[in-house]
Amino acid sequence: MKIVVQKFGGTSVATPEARAAVRKKIIEAVSNGFSPIVVVSAMGRSGDAYATDSLIDVIKNEYRSVSARNLDTIMCCGELISAAVMAASLESEGLQAVALTGGQAGIWTDDNFGAADIIDIDVKVLKSYLAKAIIPVVCGFQGRTEDGIFTTLGRGGSDTTAAALGAALQAEAVEIYTDVDGIMTADPRVVSKANILDCVSYADVCQMAHQGAKVIHPRAVEIAMKKEIPIIVKSTFSDAPGTLICTEEAVSRTSNHLTRIISGVAYLKDLAQFKVQLDSKIPQLGKHLYDELAKNKISVGCLNLQPELSMFSVFMFDCEKTHALLTNDGFDFEVHNDCAKVSIVGSGMRGVHGIMATFVAALTENGITILQMVDSDTTISAIVHQEQLNNAVTALHDAFGL
Ligand code: ASP
Ligand code: MG
Repeated sequence: MKIVVQKFGGTSVATPEARAAVRKKIIEAVSNGFSPIVVVSAMGRSGDAYATDSLIDVIKNEYRSVSARNLDTIMCCGELISAAVMAASLESEGLQAVALTGGQAGIWTDDNFGAADIIDIDVKVLKSYLAKAIIPVVCGFQGRTEDGIFTTLGRGGSDTTAAALGAALQAEAVEIYTDVDGIMTADPRVVSKANILDCVSYADVCQMAHQGAKVIHPRAVEIAMKKEIPIIVKSTFSDAPGTLICTEEAVSRTSNHLTRIISGVAYLKDLAQFKVQLDSKIPQLGKHLYDELAKNKISVGCLNLQPELSMFSVFMFDCEKTHALLTNDGFDFEVHNDCAKVSIVGSGMRGVHGIMATFVAALTENGITILQMVDSDTTISAIVHQEQLNNAVTALHDAFGL
């Protein structure tokens, strides 16, 4: 049996027309000899009646505090409605389909409500439906605890469900259907010349997602990578081939990638950069600073520690808290609000000379102030003023010939 997992995002299941396009993709898979397992997100986007954010508001607009467990229960309703509607939509075309909660599909999680981890997947139920040529339509983003309580896997978690089922069932592929033709070299709202990548490695796409590109949930990619299950990101509404996510070796075998150094440009907005004065005569000061940030659960990025100075960035929502903390502790510091981080990502840059020089030239020649730089072996990032971000993304996209 050749299994394919087909995951459809919120916009793909939102309207009868969209669901007709979804049906077409499922029927295509069946006629190509695949046994599909369908995974769905909640219908529509924030503001639509059954979208996840709207369901959260049903409770939060009325009651100030709600437990994570009860919030998970209401969030699970979105996918439940979506799965039932999608299964009915398939039945209307004479196909046999059943809607299943994450738990009914065998997804067991811990009880870390709101960000549960999958502990185990029992594929018996899914396999028995496939054996009878019944299409399982599984609620994405959810599972059940040992005690049968609804849990969610973290926002954007339907991708995780699809990848986890693909890995558990050794699927031929996991197809992530969305409303764009694939993964792009940059956000097309910022760079009009951005291109669709025909393939990209698990590592690069994960890194792009961590650096802010809204492509696919990085956890889904990590799960698929472990079992080397190919992921294809494509549109529900076109026949474009989409982007194949696979191993680095497979990417480099395709001839047009021999020369590709950078896979894409990504960005993160709404950061604040802190510059904290340290004292080389009191080396424990740096340790104290990071201990305090950790104790207060402030997540820091772009960390740079020198004997007399430390720089780091936090998300704007943590800025006030960080400010208060440093003031209370008597630190001498400066803060730049409204910063952003722009990054180039590509495993192809390993061991290649001149990437940093091209990066710096692209920004400075376009009048963009670099507030700080950080790099790893596959990523180079700069902190810039948010008002210069779009120019920075475009400049880097041009400079690296994407
Ligand atoms: N509906 C969930 C969310 O909005 C899960 C998903 O769409 O992937 O986060
Ligand atoms: Mg998503």
